Amino acid sequence: MLARLFRLHGLLVASHPWEVIVGTLAATVCLMNMNSSSSSSQMCSWNNCPKVKEEAPSSDIIILTITRCMAIIYIYFQFKNLLQLGSKYILGIAGLFTVFSSFVFSTVVIHFFGKELTGLNEALPFFLLLIDLSKACTLAKFALSSNSQEEVRENISKGMAILGPTFTLDALVECLVIGVGTMSGVPQLEIMCCFGCMSVLANYFVFMTFFPACVSLVLELSRESREGRPIWQMSHLAHVLAEEEDNKPNPVTQRVKIIMSLGLALVHAHTRLTAERSGHNRTVEGPIAERLESSGTAWAQKPTSVALEHVITLSLALLLAVKYVFFEQADTESSLSLRSPINGASLIQKPRAAHDCCRRDQAAPKSQKSSPGVPATSTASLADVKPSSEADINFKEVTKTASMEVEGCASFSQKASAQTCSSPQGRGSEPRSLEECMAILSDPQRGPKMLTDAEVINLVRSSKILNYKLESIMETPERGVAIRRDILSPKLPVSSALARLPYQGYDYSKVMGACCENVIGYMPVPVGVAGPLLLDDAQFHVPMATTEGCLVASANRGCRAIFLAGGCSSRILADSMTRGPVVRLPSACQAAEVKIWLESPDGFSMVKEAFDETSRFARLEKLLVAVAGRNLYIRFQSQTGDAMGMNMLSKGTEQALHRLKQHFPDMEVLSVSGNYCTDKKAAAINWILGRGKSAVCEATIPAKVVKEVLKSSTAALVDLNISKNLVGSAMAGSIGGFNAHAANIVAAIYIACGQDPAQTVGSSNCITQMEAAGPNDDDLYISCTMPSIELGTVGGGTNLPPQQACLQMLGVTGSKQPGENARQLARIVCATVLAGELSLMSALAAGHLVKSHMTHNRSKTNLSEMALSKPSDN
Ligand code: NAP
Repeated sequence: MLARLFRLHGLLVASHPWEVIVGTLAATVCLMNMNSSSSSSQMCSWNNCPKVKEEAPSSDIIILTITRCMAIIYIYFQFKNLLQLGSKYILGIAGLFTVFSSFVFSTVVIHFFGKELTGLNEALPFFLLLIDLSKACTLAKFALSSNSQEEVRENISKGMAILGPTFTLDALVECLVIGVGTMSGVPQLEIMCCFGCMSVLANYFVFMTFFPACVSLVLELSRESREGRPIWQMSHLAHVLAEEEDNKPNPVTQRVKIIMSLGLALVHAHTRLTAERSGHNRTVEGPIAERLESSGTAWAQKPTSVALEHVITLSLALLLAVKYVFFEQADTESSLSLRSPINGASLIQKPRAAHDCCRRDQAAPKSQKSSPGVPATSTASLADVKPSSEADINFKEVTKTASMEVEGCASFSQKASAQTCSSPQGRGSEPRSLEECMAILSDPQRGPKMLTDAEVINLVRSSKILNYKLESIMETPERGVAIRRDILSPKLPVSSALARLPYQGYDYSKVMGACCENVIGYMPVPVGVAGPLLLDDAQFHVPMATTEGCLVASANRGCRAIFLAGGCSSRILADSMTRGPVVRLPSACQAAEVKIWLESPDGFSMVKEAFDETSRFARLEKLLVAVAGRNLYIRFQSQTGDAMGMNMLSKGTEQALHRLKQHFPDMEVLSVSGNYCTDKKAAAINWILGRGKSAVCEATIPAKVVKEVLKSSTAALVDLNISKNLVGSAMAGSIGGFNAHAANIVAAIYIACGQDPAQTVGSSNCITQMEAAGPNDDDLYISCTMPSIELGTVGGGTNLPPQQACLQMLGVTGSKQPGENARQLARIVCATVLAGELSLMSALAAGHLVKSHMTHNRSKTNLSEMALSKPSDN
């Protein structure tokens, strides 16, 4: 019920930011302008704030100086902690919150003390000491993790529903507790407590009104980046919502607070009533201002101590500011910017060092980790603390505190690439001996997680652990990757080079033993989408991973032309992968005999039997045998289901050769691949006989579309196609390169969809043909024939989740007739190539190519460098 109320409040504030901000400012200004005489009439109803007439003793000045210094340090650490979150927005919002809360607070103080600025001077340190930025930042994080303005409102109200009741109760309890001090009878304490209560109230007031409205407004104003993504959106903060439960207050604590506040309210009421009845007025004849006035006089009499106090406070503030601005900026610069995704990655690299920080401590007895009340966080690793139903609350607290430690330790150890930070206590401690480390490593109870990174690196350097096995030896593959990076970094020309190559949050289990070895990270490549591609009456949105500007846009324009033309049609002409080993016979004649035998039905069926045993999908269809002296080249050809099939073919071929050798013992297998396949090299054999999937795609583009979408004409395109794609390629002696840029499309789809990118070589074989068509010969008939599209939808890189996602976009995953998905993917590739050909050829015919590349594809850095270097060139 209460949460709903706060949720509604949050929604209201976030939805009407202007109204709330103006209202809050108006209320503050009204408060400032209220008749100052009212200040003398004890507006603060709970307030027995005394008017102290005696001069401030020098001990006051010392206390005030200490308070100011503490306030500066406290605020400094609050901001420092916020830096860890890696967002300039959070920092900005926290700054805004602080500035405005202190403005409200100052206004109240000035008002209560009759515009006496000395009062403010004394009060502000107390305010800074009591301000709590954590809740404001949590609310900001809720907002910043949104994807749209609607979500901002929804998330602010969600955050308000969670934080509002707690904050209200906290403010109430704090006020009542601090308020007790105002009844103490000790003048100094009463004034301090008076300031304290005002701080809490100002904080609360701003948090509930101005702050959420401001967050909502600021985010709305900075809503759209150029790329259409909210510029403030931070996926790494998305966990805030996921951990919503963690933000919810502990009901037991809440109950205790409510009971406590009730008790305190009673105490306040009782004290006030008693005071009134007894006519006890203590020293409340006037406002505190008088006390401040007197203290001001006293200070005026002590110019030296005042000056000294100000000098100390000022130099401390300056010192911290210099450290903050100049020394911490460099470390956090990359993590503060949201512009680069890599920065985000470097951000999330911090906790690793922190995990490392806890390794030594994991040796602590397990009982310590979960025992309630014990500061287990300093002795337990996050990984080891597991939530159980009964210890759930404990776990959350432990995790939170631990993550705070983690952050602290991470920032400490980030620069220390030598990984000497092994634990909070163990910082700087020497790694244990190799023998001891090996004993820990081979002990199933302890294992690698009990070793620090420095110790693991020592084991690798002394060859006790093989570098390439790090992922499989460490408790998580990611840690293995991280340690390999640490070993490699110092050997690189730029030792910080890897900082911008991300490695965290990647599922290495799918990579190990399948896709890559000696892994040091992963390469994020932008993925664009072209489409809808209307192919065989179905629409496809084609993912393309590329860094070539214009490419996706160009393919997209081709897709649009095809779409307006009513679509394109495709057929699969052949489907079989090949592997061509080389074997050697004692003589050319014997080689010829083997060839004849392999081409006989008996020979073929014997080899086929051996070959087919190796896979559920590979079925030998054909053998193409060629003799070169005493060398024999045998091209095995087989369907491979949905797999691209190179491994499958290699396995089958090896088995078949084994059987062949039994029949011809004199035969020597030189290599399972004799380049007669031919894989990943330009070869006429693939162009002529085909390899993988052979596909053809065609479309007729009406003259109107050619003119309006492609900005060209049929005659110009047909002419250019002959001159460039046919005659030009013939003049260049091209094999299969009778096209404008098939490889561009093939490579981009291959990278997005987890294909072997090296097979772009053969897969891009394509002849593009164009003819005039239609009753007036002004429509454009275009076809692309691609005889060797080598691809699959299972196996290899297609198993990796992002690549799977792209295959899913095209609907070519899941169980269908074996081979259906792969053939469909080949058709899509062929049709997208056709779209790309249409667009590029049109751009060339219209002379647009260079212009658009200069606008969209030229490196801005290079251009500016060139601009700078021009004067010296001349
Ligand atoms: P693969 O992952 O080695 O083999 C495919 C696996 O998927 C087989 O185990 C197959 O079962 C199984 N499978 C399940 N459902 C299937 C289906 N519907 N259709 C086909 N297979 C299915 O994949 P590959 O395509 O043969 O090899 C691809 C890898 O080879 C890529 O990583 C590529 O980079 C690499 N490559 C290798 C060479 C080489 O010379 N070895 C050359 C170039 C590239 P079965 O066990 O029953 O067959």
